[in-house]
Amino acid sequence: MLIMNLNTPISQLSRVGKTTAKRLERLGVATAADLLFYFPFRYEDFRSVVKIADLKHGEAVTVRAKVELIANKRSPRQRKNITEALVSDASGSLRVVWFNQPFIGKTLRPGDEVFLSGKARTDMLGAQMIGPVYERVNTPPSVPPPETSSGQALKGEGLYTTHTARLVPMYPLTAGLTQKQIRFLVSQVIVLSAAMQEWLPDEILDKYDLAPLSSALQGIHFPKDEIDLAKSTERLKFDELFLIQLKAELSRLEKADAKAPSLAFNENAIKEFVASLPFTLTKTQKISAWEILQDLQKTTPMNRLLSGDVGSGKTVVAAMAMYNAALNGYQAVLMAPTEILAVQHYNSIVNLLGHKVKVGLLTGSKSQFPISNFQSMTNDQFSKFNKKDFLEKIKSNNIQIIIGTHALLTEGVEFERLGLVIVDEQHRFGVGQRKTIKEKGGGAHFLSMTATPIPRSLALMVYGDLDVSIINELPPGRKKILTRLVEPVNRVKAYTFIREQVKKGRQCFVVCPLIGANNEEFPISNFQFPKDDKKSVLSEFEKLSKNIFPDLRVGYLHGRLKPKEKDGTMEKFRKRELDILVSTSVVEVGVDIPNTSVMMIEGAERFGLAQLHQFRGRVGRSVHQSYCFLFVEQESPRALERLRFFEKNNDGFKLAEKDLEMRGPGEVYGTAQSGFMNLRLAKLTDKEIIKKAREAARQVAPRLGKFPTLTAKIKEWENAVHLE
Ligand code: ADP
Ligand code: MG
Repeated sequence: MLIMNLNTPISQLSRVGKTTAKRLERLGVATAADLLFYFPFRYEDFRSVVKIADLKHGEAVTVRAKVELIANKRSPRQRKNITEALVSDASGSLRVVWFNQPFIGKTLRPGDEVFLSGKARTDMLGAQMIGPVYERVNTPPSVPPPETSSGQALKGEGLYTTHTARLVPMYPLTAGLTQKQIRFLVSQVIVLSAAMQEWLPDEILDKYDLAPLSSALQGIHFPKDEIDLAKSTERLKFDELFLIQLKAELSRLEKADAKAPSLAFNENAIKEFVASLPFTLTKTQKISAWEILQDLQKTTPMNRLLSGDVGSGKTVVAAMAMYNAALNGYQAVLMAPTEILAVQHYNSIVNLLGHKVKVGLLTGSKSQFPISNFQSMTNDQFSKFNKKDFLEKIKSNNIQIIIGTHALLTEGVEFERLGLVIVDEQHRFGVGQRKTIKEKGGGAHFLSMTATPIPRSLALMVYGDLDVSIINELPPGRKKILTRLVEPVNRVKAYTFIREQVKKGRQCFVVCPLIGANNEEFPISNFQFPKDDKKSVLSEFEKLSKNIFPDLRVGYLHGRLKPKEKDGTMEKFRKRELDILVSTSVVEVGVDIPNTSVMMIEGAERFGLAQLHQFRGRVGRSVHQSYCFLFVEQESPRALERLRFFEKNNDGFKLAEKDLEMRGPGEVYGTAQSGFMNLRLAKLTDKEIIKKAREAARQVAPRLGKFPTLTAKIKEWENAVHLE
């Protein structure tokens, strides 16, 4: 017999040929250890072993019976292979049928004793089982299973089972693999779980009453009972969450040594600034600003996330922080993911602070020196692009607040005294860019802003090493945006409504999931959609401009246009030279055109709730009552449930929670930034475990050196997961 260890390649296990090995590899399973960590996603409860005479219709059970007759036959019409058997126990007999598994007719022989697990049907002819899972009684295993994996009901008899008469694990599969195959393989390697080195320190195991790793691994594959399963699952979830938290804690400790300039809170000037605003700050705006200003005074760099719903007023909070930096003689940078947003920010900040400090703009195609009239700029008003002079001005600290895109990250950009870096919608920057931001901003305070509302529990997970400020209210007096999921038959009514709005002087967005008919680009990765009837910007633009609204001015926008074309269209829309703008998700973030009142979304089921909420946030930005219409291309109960929830809820935080619950963090927040690829079991709703894991990480991190196994584990984990 093969002597296995954790590193034994899967191809050396019994009954694994080349093809099977390939298929397993597709599931990420290459070694025995990988198999141990290939977890079931659910369990069938076949523990109840009943007499044939006691079978009840529809109950999931196991019978232990002897094969009396068994035969394969073909049904020529349906081209099906049918295996029919008659089995019996002391209480009676049972008909069994399998479809298209002719090997069963060849493997099982009259006289064989088997367990059959499945749902029974009873009719006039008595009981029947269709396609039950079968397993011979008393087949000696290739590897004796450990004590814990024995089927509970059968323990007294010294029997064990893998596929029947127990809580049966069900694994995620790929084409060409069966549950039985995986279970069989896992049952071969399960003994090795005893060889897995425990990597959690004893003090943590004790304190949180966690199952040892080896028994958790056994229990997750072959649970003795529900309690064993729950304990095992909890332990393994804890592991996943603990590693994330530990990593965050370690990087927090690392940063504790870093230095940043202490920027004194210039209370008078800030108060004066706040008093000069045409509105009063909301409570959470005040709290957030205060938290940030406190951080800036420290000699360690601030590392904070400012999360607030669309329109919650993050910009003014950012402005306060930048102003305070400037008052201390330091420069501040505000970076946005697109030029459109950078220009918008520039205009807002110039309005807020232009008469107090020097504000400049730098993007890939634009630069703007501080100006003296402090008015918002339209595209044609920007001064001629002169990057060189601009860089000179930054370097000599002649511009205190610099707003821009990732153009700010290019080589020639040097700062004389950089004190604060603020990044808007950081997750829209590439991984490389984020790294450069961190490097360039080394020694400065750092603030990341996001309009994707993020529940605090998740924020702690995803951004474990960041402090979080949350603005969870909108300024008073905002009109609620009326949202409707529109039935296809009412499409015409929606168009009529749009026409009326345009007549009233309003403008309208139409968002489509795709650019053109053949363009497979789509914001949600790995989404499968049918080839026909896709709503694309180009086809909708055709339809709307030619057939529906030939008399109105319709334009379109998508990410593949040249920056100039994009700018041109945006500018026209802004100046009300267009009534309707058909667009992809490029209008998602931050675009601020207060005159718009209708947001119409095609193929709404393809977007996450958080993203839909972003779209909706493009309207309702002024006194005009605004509307959001959702159209669905492919109805599914799940999609409708989500969209109905969206209809009724305007709170971005609630939507984010719902999204998380229904789609998981990878879909909602992107996997690249979250490292959630590695969450196999844990969910963000596991709040209790998250809390414990966090506590435990805090407890262990400062003494990590004392735990060599844990140190090795975190290294291994870091190599597997690429966090930003
Ligand atoms: P976001 O958080 O989406 O970036 P903005 O900072 O763009 O939001 O603010 C949206 C609008 O709300 C801006 O026009 C801003 O001037 C205004 N605003 C911000 N704070 C308040 C407030 N406390 N009361 C009223 N209006 C506010
Ligand atoms: Mg904003």
